[in-house]
Amino acid sequence: MRGLEGKGVLITGATRGIGLATAVRFLQEGARVFICARNADDVARTVAELSGQGVAHGQACDVSQPRDVAALVAAAEAALGGVDILINNAGIAWQEPFLDIPLEHWDATMAINLRGMFMVAQAVARQMVARGQGGAIVNMSSTNGLEGEPQYAHYNATKGGALLLTRTMAVELAPHGIRVNAVCPGYILTPLNEGLHDQAFIEHYIRDLIPLGRTGRPEDVAAAYAFLASDDAAFITGAALTIDGGQLAG
Ligand code: NDP
Repeated sequence: MRGLEGKGVLITGATRGIGLATAVRFLQEGARVFICARNADDVARTVAELSGQGVAHGQACDVSQPRDVAALVAAAEAALGGVDILINNAGIAWQEPFLDIPLEHWDATMAINLRGMFMVAQAVARQMVARGQGGAIVNMSSTNGLEGEPQYAHYNATKGGALLLTRTMAVELAPHGIRVNAVCPGYILTPLNEGLHDQAFIEHYIRDLIPLGRTGRPEDVAAAYAFLASDDAAFITGAALTIDGGQLAG
């Protein structure tokens, strides 16, 4: 894709699943990456693995913690010589009925998926505005931000919030040459949901709900992230790109 070569890319939540595939994709495009996750050992191992494929840095960070976020963005700015692209990917999910959701799960989901997304985006956007060279931000939403899947009320609320955060940022940051978009993946098989569902559930889900007849792969989402961050998407801002094998199409 055009315009990714040499770019500095900060990717949150990139030690496994979609974030890891995205780091690999940006390295393949010739970009330099800085990754984070909460588990420091996983970050060190992932950076070591990625370094065989290009320029990779990383630091442990919990995106729900203001001090962690400030340190993360400062370290990424220093290592990359400026963050050109932010992939705001980190997120968690619980599956539980609305009537049973404990306040701690509600608060943690909000703190990571939405407040964390806001804090990282604000810190990075402030640096982009100060540098005056524009940039691209892609926020992680979900098909759950477009439709209310049962047993995910807290998760759905954060993903719907991510969409309006994205649109508002897109309008406010456009004068600075910063594009802001969102991705809305459907069912992507990653460690996030591998523990939640057995094989019978997955087969039933595919047969009944996904016209393309398979679950998504982390690489399917990585490609969408890369496109929205690239110059091929130069006139796209405030958009939400659905990657769901046709699930929401009808
Ligand atoms: P995984 O659980 O496989 O990976 C999540 C990554 O985020 C890990 O690297 C994890 O590392 C990190 N992470 C979690 N919490 C935090 C935190 N507080 N601060 C920093 N890093 C954190 O998830 P997926 O790859 O499946 O999901 C990635 C994103 O995509 C999420 O936002 C999710 O909601 C979204 N999504 C996923 C879909 C799917 O079907 N899988 C569908 C639609 C959206 P660590 O635990 O060490 O912090």
